[in-house]
Amino acid sequence: MKKLFRTIFCLILLVVLAACSQTKKQSEVASSSSSQEKTSQSSSKVSTTEATSQESSSSESQASSSNTDIEVSDAHYNGSCYYVDGKYGPVIIVNKKHPISSSYAPGDDSQALVAFQELVSAMRAKGFGISDSYSGFRSYETQTNLYNNYVASDGQTNADRYSARPGYSEHQTGLAFDLIDSSGNLLEESDAVAWLADNAHKYGFVVRYLKNKESVTGYMAETWHVRYIGEEATDIYNSGLTLEEYYHVDGGDYQS
Ligand SMILES: [Zn+2]
Repeated sequence: MKKLFRTIFCLILLVVLAACSQTKKQSEVASSSSSQEKTSQSSSKVSTTEATSQESSSSESQASSSNTDIEVSDAHYNGSCYYVDGKYGPVIIVNKKHPISSSYAPGDDSQALVAFQELVSAMRAKGFGISDSYSGFRSYETQTNLYNNYVASDGQTNADRYSARPGYSEHQTGLAFDLIDSSGNLLEESDAVAWLADNAHKYGFVVRYLKNKESVTGYMAETWHVRYIGEEATDIYNSGLTLEEYYHVDGGDYQS
């Protein structure tokens, strides 16, 4: 009997300890997000990084599934960018909640570039007018100039809907490409973009910024912007979800 009481006591103690660490986890997240509001953008970038890496290590050890896991996201930080564990390997995540280090400059990913060229050839074979030029890898510095020019001509609120702030562009990964049509404009021709939306996954790409998903992806729809994922692109396409929804990572607007 005494042994039974001891076992029950131990069980209760375990439950209490687990509940305490869960509360601590939530308060860490809450305090780090409130401190972000007070700090400048550059320092909040650092605290986001810390909060997320703390979060991912504690969720691994607890193996619990609470809402905070999804709010703060399932992405891990490796010192230069965030990634999730995809079905076939790590998948880099860059959006307005997941910045990328200013020094990350891999150029166009070679595997992604080969796949992109195959995609372009397939579209041409279908009779769509696609240019040889494309917009692929962009350095932090290039993105800085691009974004500043958009802000100067269109205002920051408008620019933020279609152009990433430096350190937040998916183009900096070397895995994102903008398709250009034969007149030199971003691809918007309706038959071409409809084909692209349904077939890009066969070449390992997802059309990244979908219609009516600005609150999730952080950007207005872009018919021309594809992101290389590899084989899992087909799973993502079949799910009908954005990258954020599919991998349970936080998206939408900037933190502050
Ligand atoms: Zn793009």
